[in-house]
Amino acid sequence: RIINPRQAEDILAAGHIDMAGMTRASIADPNFIKKTVEQREADIIYCVGCAQACMGRVNRNQHVTCFQNPFTGREHVWGELTNTTNRKKIVVVGGGPAGMSFAWVAASRGHEVNLYDDHHELGGQVLLAEQLPLCLELGTVARNLSRQVYQAGVEVYLNTSATSETVIAQNPDEVVLATGSKPYLPQNVQGINQNHVFTFERAFTQPDLLGDSVLLIDNDGHQRGASTAAWLIKIGKKVQVVTEFSHIGSNFEMSLLRVRIYQLFFKT
Ligand code: SF4
Repeated sequence: RIINPRQAEDILAAGHIDMAGMTRASIADPNFIKKTVEQREADIIYCVGCAQACMGRVNRNQHVTCFQNPFTGREHVWGELTNTTNRKKIVVVGGGPAGMSFAWVAASRGHEVNLYDDHHELGGQVLLAEQLPLCLELGTVARNLSRQVYQAGVEVYLNTSATSETVIAQNPDEVVLATGSKPYLPQNVQGINQNHVFTFERAFTQPDLLGDSVLLIDNDGHQRGASTAAWLIKIGKKVQVVTEFSHIGSNFEMSLLRVRIYQLFFKT
């Protein structure tokens, strides 16, 4: 898969091809070629190869859009961003994908936007996810949105918790809470709150507390369960997966990704 102009240029220069066609790269950023010609490669919204919103949606008889660029496929509905006639001061709490997306769009439309995150960099849970074996390109999502946030003129406060005092001191017209999702822990399961029951986030940030043998319960069949299992194997754990589905990653959008999963597992 060719993902950036430099890679295409290198393959062309080596004489392997006469022309490079880049489908998903152009879905993620319809201005890919224009930005390349204008030497604005840093502004390109790069495809992360997730196959979710393009091929995945086509497989479900839905129109193409993009995980990285939700404007793709919705141009006739959303149109161009227009300047607001009612400028507001807005505080956004949370610098993950949702907070950053809101912030750059609002600022681009002329609102004054202040974004708070208590981490030292923007990205939220994407920064955790990109460290998993099957999600290595996901960090591009955070970096792309972060660039858009700064380019739009959002005032960003990192390492800063948005307390009530902080928010009130800004005297905002609107406050947007984008503090991320919490893992679901079914409280009707006996023992669910015991110390040796881990969410993905806790396992990943406190791996020293894990035992040698891990039972992983995957009840959505998507990337998180499969990637977590692959990561646990990588750090030397014996892993057993329990899932209500017929196989691991059954809800992945692309069979190609399923192949990658099975390459990472020795036994299922
Ligand atoms: S949905 Fe994913 S694979 Fe498809 S073009 Fe967008 S980033 Fe690329």
